[in-house]
Amino acid sequence: MSRFALGDPWLEELATRRDVIERLMAAHLPNDDGLCVECTTPGHGTPRAPWPCSLWTLADEAHQLRALRNPGRPPG
Ligand SMILES: [Zn+2]
Repeated sequence: MSRFALGDPWLEELATRRDVIERLMAAHLPNDDGLCVECTTPGHGTPRAPWPCSLWTLADEAHQLRALRNPGRPPG
């Protein structure tokens, strides 16, 4: 399932920032209820946001975009 938004400046920028991608994917994880632990933290984003949330999905797409942009190199 891919929802690449090629040409999206946010995604293009994020794809150059492996550290940010890794931080997002490490923080936005599902809890026992299948909700994003980061987005459902009070004061953050969307209460009761189902996982994968929009930020995790964006980070995942940026991660895949890195792999496309760097063929022959290990993704990361
Ligand atoms: Zn999230």
